[in-house]
Amino acid sequence: MSRVKIVRAATAIGAALLIATAANADAAEKVKVLFIEGQNNHVWETTTPLLKADLEKTGRFEVGVATTPPKKSPAAAWDSFRPDFKAYDVVLTNYNGDSWPAPVRKALEEYVSGGGGLVVMHAANNAFPDWPAYNEMIGLGWRDAKYGDRLTIDDAGKVVRTPKGEGPGAGHGARHSFAVLVRKPDHPIMKGLPPIWPHAIDELYHGQRGPAKDMDVLATAYSAPSKGGTGTNEPMVWAIPFGKGRVVTNVMGHTTADDLGAVAAADFRTLIARSCEWAATGAVTLPVPADFPTAAK
Ligand code: ZN
Repeated sequence: MSRVKIVRAATAIGAALLIATAANADAAEKVKVLFIEGQNNHVWETTTPLLKADLEKTGRFEVGVATTPPKKSPAAAWDSFRPDFKAYDVVLTNYNGDSWPAPVRKALEEYVSGGGGLVVMHAANNAFPDWPAYNEMIGLGWRDAKYGDRLTIDDAGKVVRTPKGEGPGAGHGARHSFAVLVRKPDHPIMKGLPPIWPHAIDELYHGQRGPAKDMDVLATAYSAPSKGGTGTNEPMVWAIPFGKGRVVTNVMGHTTADDLGAVAAADFRTLIARSCEWAATGAVTLPVPADFPTAAK
């Protein structure tokens, strides 16, 4: 082998080693997501593969799935549902159904308070009205007005707290496409997103209720009375610390059997991915994709 060839060969081996090292580093740095599904008043079966594939496509995540027993299963059927939360960096829940066994509830509480991440999408905030810690984690859930406080943002950007018993309880008007307004542009999840953008046709949740403690409202949407809404800015995405853990709730993402549009929308997918990364690590490295909607009217 000539000297040039030897140098080239050595360079090639060196490059290969570098690539191998980089690949190992990537694998080690992947954020482990546990997606929870199994019961919902929405089409969870088709939503899971869509979001799982989407998260994995970013190259940043490795996604496992935990499926609960079906609705109204006998207690014994739940014995096998013991997700190993601690094996993951973040739990993403699309679950809205029967109560979980006490050991699973306790395990999630310990996991999040110990530093684990939790991301809650759409009707998953309807779940577990009788589980106090879950309600603390989500801050606001789909509950009636007597359940707890309500939080909205006025036109000056000020947080308005409505005490329990006053004002509307949980609901939504007619589905429509609405504008999402960023309230915390410097928050890692929101950084780099357009200040306001048009979201796909979706349910616009209003009057959500709960303890609403330590809520960092990241984005809101104006709930138009003409669409059956409340005439104020309702929280769409918010973050709450729970012990050492981070919880993000995103109430967008309604689905029906023939319409996955709201979860397939680029903004929703981006928010879920960034929320998972932030809840897991406290930082966001994922870029804003080119197809993110811009310039809401
Ligand atoms: Zn819905």
